Amino acid sequence: MNTKELEEALVERFLRYVNVPSQSHPNGGSKVPSTETQWDMARLLQGELKSLGLKDISLSDKCVLTAQLPANLPSGTPLPPTIGFCAHIDTVDVSLSPVVKPRRLHYTGGDITLNAEKNIIMRAAQHPELSPYVGQELIVTDGTSVLGADNKAALANIMTALATLVNDPAIPHGNICVAFVPDEECGLWGSKNMDFSKFPADYAYTIDCCALGEVVYETFNAGSAEITIHGVSAHPMSAKGVLVNPTLLAVDFVNLFDRKETPECTEGTEGYIWCQTIRSNPTTATVELNIRDHDKARYERRKALIAENVEKLRRMEPRCRVEYTMEDTYGNIADAVTDENKQAIDHIYTAMNRLGITPHTIAMRGGTDGSFISTKGILTPNYFTGGLNFHSNCEFLPIPSLRKSYEVTMMLIALALGKHG
Ligand SMILES: [Zn+2]
Repeated sequence: MNTKELEEALVERFLRYVNVPSQSHPNGGSKVPSTETQWDMARLLQGELKSLGLKDISLSDKCVLTAQLPANLPSGTPLPPTIGFCAHIDTVDVSLSPVVKPRRLHYTGGDITLNAEKNIIMRAAQHPELSPYVGQELIVTDGTSVLGADNKAALANIMTALATLVNDPAIPHGNICVAFVPDEECGLWGSKNMDFSKFPADYAYTIDCCALGEVVYETFNAGSAEITIHGVSAHPMSAKGVLVNPTLLAVDFVNLFDRKETPECTEGTEGYIWCQTIRSNPTTATVELNIRDHDKARYERRKALIAENVEKLRRMEPRCRVEYTMEDTYGNIADAVTDENKQAIDHIYTAMNRLGITPHTIAMRGGTDGSFISTKGILTPNYFTGGLNFHSNCEFLPIPSLRKSYEVTMMLIALALGKHG
């Protein structure tokens, strides 16, 4: 395939996938997948994997789709590491339409009218990220939805790579496994429900960040805490010396934390504790905290601080009863690096170097499916899809960037062969 044919093949797949609405909805993981439409997306991919002849295709009761492409190396060749690819099948729900109506255009600069009827315009002045793409073919939305390049550009990328390998047995490759997971956008619930025996990767990749060249292998360590404060209720006429107000104690509790170590006061690799919710009534108050830090030791200190502040509150008001739970949600990908698997990250830079792509490494203030998968000992860094403005109706996908993301995928498969290739 020449460049043009390759781009058309990628775009055709991408448009087919965005045509399936598959928003997820936050539900705390109580039901996975969170929406029925994600099954439509998974079944479409399952059918395509079957047509390609992949092995061990499995769609779990949690809508996690896994499959294997066995190595095609001459018998007797030592097997290179098994490489995994993971992408999410859901799109984010940010109160925009679940139905995506993509449009392809040649960008000549200036504003882009996404929707003339509704007067939705992407203004170049407010979107300087458009300027590097003058002269390129873009896929944009009609202004009423996200585009869903997050993460359907990755689905198109991985599926096209599998099709290329199946259709051209002359391209050598080791064992490859893939996982397509639901509910990434609402808490990584798909990857958290993966059966890792069906994803036997030595290391893996997600393709789930933005512009051409982006690389992420540092994410937050993330956890949450829930503190429940039981007070003593009383009628105001006899409340003096009796009533213990849990609402005020919840306020006292959150005031024990440093107001400078919050999301709104931090950036880069600075961590925080985010007071998300205080719910209260005359007898009980509940405080929900999110804990985030790139550095594992600092993250653990933040958890210890929460426990210390609970103790302080108990001392401040011995008549209240305080209970708390804390839970780790995902880890920093970088903490899973070992001498054996660090090539997974090195290969991204080698691939980009060979393809003439300038890498842009980001310490992500969030997590990816790879942040969870990495906690299972499978190092899973992340590279660009090529799309921009994720989670916005101004999301767009430059077609040449989509192609380059695919070329990185193919190069990573080649590099995995190492000295066995
Ligand atoms: Zn994503």
